[in-house]
Amino acid sequence: MDKIKSTSILLKGIRVYTENEIIENGYIKIKDNLIDEIGTTDRLGSIEDYEVLEIPSGYHVVPGFIDVHIHGVNGADTMDATKEALDTMVMALPKEGTTSFLATTITQEAEEIEKAIKNAGEYIEMQSGQGKAEILGIHLEGPFVNAKKAGAQPIQHIIDPNLELFKQWQALAKGTIKLVTLAPERPGGLEMVRYLKENGVIPSIGHTDATFEQVSEAIDAGANHVTHLYNQMRGLHHREPGVVGAAFLRDELKAEMIVDGVHVHPEMVNLAYKQKKSKGLLLITDSMRAKCLKNGTYDLGGQEVIVQDGKAVLGDGTLAGSILKLGHAVKNVLQYTGCTISEVIEMASVNPAKQLNVYNRKGSLAAGKDADIVILDDQMNVYMTFCRGEVAFNKEEEA
Ligand SMILES: [Zn+2]
Repeated sequence: MDKIKSTSILLKGIRVYTENEIIENGYIKIKDNLIDEIGTTDRLGSIEDYEVLEIPSGYHVVPGFIDVHIHGVNGADTMDATKEALDTMVMALPKEGTTSFLATTITQEAEEIEKAIKNAGEYIEMQSGQGKAEILGIHLEGPFVNAKKAGAQPIQHIIDPNLELFKQWQALAKGTIKLVTLAPERPGGLEMVRYLKENGVIPSIGHTDATFEQVSEAIDAGANHVTHLYNQMRGLHHREPGVVGAAFLRDELKAEMIVDGVHVHPEMVNLAYKQKKSKGLLLITDSMRAKCLKNGTYDLGGQEVIVQDGKAVLGDGTLAGSILKLGHAVKNVLQYTGCTISEVIEMASVNPAKQLNVYNRKGSLAAGKDADIVILDDQMNVYMTFCRGEVAFNKEEEA
């Protein structure tokens, strides 16, 4: 296949997963970065001016994946606070089917966080998102969390929720902080949840020791998201249902999950799927800079992380982010739960877009939306990725 450079592209003879149906032998017209038309190939009108792409039969054409929790990839991390680091991320992620994401920070001293969010805020303002993954905003993971559930969040920099500080940071980030992971049971927690909700930011319960009761209060205050379900939170107990019990029982909460087979046992993934169904879950990677690099020792928030055997761990064995690719999470969840491809699309594309309030332009294949498109081969591997109508990854060119 020659290099694709046209801005008017026709994909035909494809299986298209639209919002409401699966079209066999369908087509998609892409024009000026948007999806222009979707239909069945027998009703295809004029194809003049379009570069036609024949896709092998049996492949699946699905909406681009949206990762609301990713720190880094390919040697780069949001906390590097450089344009180059974010350039690396937006160029690397389409290989795994990710077409947009939240650049995620980690607990650090204020100065370091400020550099990272200022950098990301400026980057977001300048980006085109064409032929590269688009940064939809910032996920502020910490420092407003509970030291009892720090995980790989450096404990010495954890602080109680501080609304004044958050407001300064949101200004510094030019309003691009879209999601905050916090422990609602800490002093100031509920006040922050309320403020975030009122200001269009997702308050997410995470790195938290909250009881079921405390989570219920947080939901009343506006919390509607759970950061990496099961990991670094109060677990399920028959006398104290904890955060996990609340996540299972309360439909208001959408839950992120790291489906790499390491962070969460496959059967616990299946349990969450049975409880929350596909509409209640979001696949995330929580990946760090070592993803796509070889085994070795890397930095995460000023700590040494050893990457080996598909895991990233601190010296004491604590899991420290992942090296998971979202495309692999998609394959894993299909295998662990036996869900349908349409359901996995909900978890990887639809739900994150709805949570982030960008479903009007992303998260599904529909005319008028951004042409963020992933083509999966018959083994569900990422074959080609379009970001706003431009090819950002093409397996044929890699080989
Ligand atoms: Zn975390």
